[in-house]
Amino acid sequence: FTAMIDLQIKSAIRDIPDFPKPGIVFKDITPILKDPSLCEAIVDNFVARVQGLKIDAVAGIESRGFLFGLQLAGKLGVPFVPVRKAGKLPFSVKQKEYELEYGTATIEVHTDAFKPGQHILVHDDLLATGGTVTAASDLIIEMGGIIAGFTFVVGLNFLNGKEKIKHFADKVVVLAE
Ligand code: AMP
Repeated sequence: FTAMIDLQIKSAIRDIPDFPKPGIVFKDITPILKDPSLCEAIVDNFVARVQGLKIDAVAGIESRGFLFGLQLAGKLGVPFVPVRKAGKLPFSVKQKEYELEYGTATIEVHTDAFKPGQHILVHDDLLATGGTVTAASDLIIEMGGIIAGFTFVVGLNFLNGKEKIKHFADKVVVLAE
């Protein structure tokens, strides 16, 4: 079951060399979106693999984390929390600045997106260095949330993102790596 989805995802993903800048191999997941049965299998695999985790909401990271994050929340029957880049969310927000390779970025969450004490599953399409999801989970914790775990469609193992979230070890689900 797990091995099959891994292969299906890997064969669907399109590698785009030197995007968005020289030296980066961009993992284009848009071919996955053209295959509804693969999309459904991805969401079903996530649901199966987060069984046993207490999850009160799914937080998806802008923008590709919205694609499967909202569907996963729907299948789990829990609310979806959008984690967005600065300046996009209209209501009152709490924000977190984090380091990028060059410079910094800021993410935001609505202050009423979830309640303190709730267990939040953090989802993104791809785990690279882990900087983004670490910032998201730090922000959720600062807002009183508890990290239920993490889900990713793809993981780039050579960037060691799992190392950054290793304290959540058995609560990290990566479908293809
Ligand atoms: P990171 O914070 O380094 O783990 O980067 C993760 C975020 O950047 C995710 O939201 C990914 O969508 C995006 N990202 C980073 N590297 C790549 C890549 N090689 N291909 C596609 N998306 C990437």
